[in-house]
Amino acid sequence: MSQALHHTIHKIVGGLQLPNDETGNCHTFVTKLAKECENLGVKFVMDTTIQQLNEQGNEIVSVSTSKGEFTADAYLMALGSYSTHMLANIGIRVPVYPVKGYSLTIPIDDFTAAPESTVMDETYKVAITRLGDKIRVGGTAEISAYNLALLEKRRKNIEFSIADLFPHAADLGKAEFWTGLRPMTPDGTPILGKTKD
Ligand SMILES: Cc1cc2nc3c(=O)[nH]c(=O)nc-3n(C[C@H](O)[C@H](O)[C@H](O)COP(=O)(O)OP(=O)(O)OC[C@H]3O[C@@H](n4cnc5c(N)ncnc54)[C@H](O)[C@@H]3O)c2cc1C
Repeated sequence: MSQALHHTIHKIVGGLQLPNDETGNCHTFVTKLAKECENLGVKFVMDTTIQQLNEQGNEIVSVSTSKGEFTADAYLMALGSYSTHMLANIGIRVPVYPVKGYSLTIPIDDFTAAPESTVMDETYKVAITRLGDKIRVGGTAEISAYNLALLEKRRKNIEFSIADLFPHAADLGKAEFWTGLRPMTPDGTPILGKTKD
């Protein structure tokens, strides 16, 4: 158990420790992965909007983007929850819907009072994670299509969990508030693989 939870042990009835679970910094991971790919010759075209997939018969022949038209031997769809409409335009239906989540990233004030790894507050379905000298708290499943408004009432819910379990760790006033869309399928499994020939 995180040592810091000793401050609030009286609030906890029980918990599960999952020693085989791991926590990683996905931004660091993908940045380093991209660097490795570049070393192998991959060229990334950043800050580019895909406008449409161009079809001929049953095949995609090119992709129109804000930086011109691109052709390739194969095309991979990985636009998260935005894949659904892009694919619908070429007659492919995928059951992917955006489920909005929120997170707070807060610089740690008192390291002895901060989580060492990840703690899930199952009552409120909030994950509290240590990210170096910061804490990231994420949660909420809001069904509101592609609306990226930062709702203060959601912030309050997430703030509650961190303040409840790790009250001395960080100053919530310094938190960075963020929202994103999880690409969700009805049973939670991803959709991987080739489309029909
Ligand atoms: C608050 C929150 C907390 C989360 N916490 C965790 C966690 O702790 N652990 C975990 O495993 N997962 C977590 N997730 C889920 C995780 O973020 C998603 O599963 C993951 O990001 C999905 O990756 P993806 O690449 O499929 O889609 P996305 O990350 O949604 O990426 C799709 C990309 O496509 C881009 N795009 C869309 N349309 C276009 C276009 N027309 N042209 C060009 N680009 C376009 C978007 O800008 C985006 O960059 C969390 C999600 C949220 C919102």
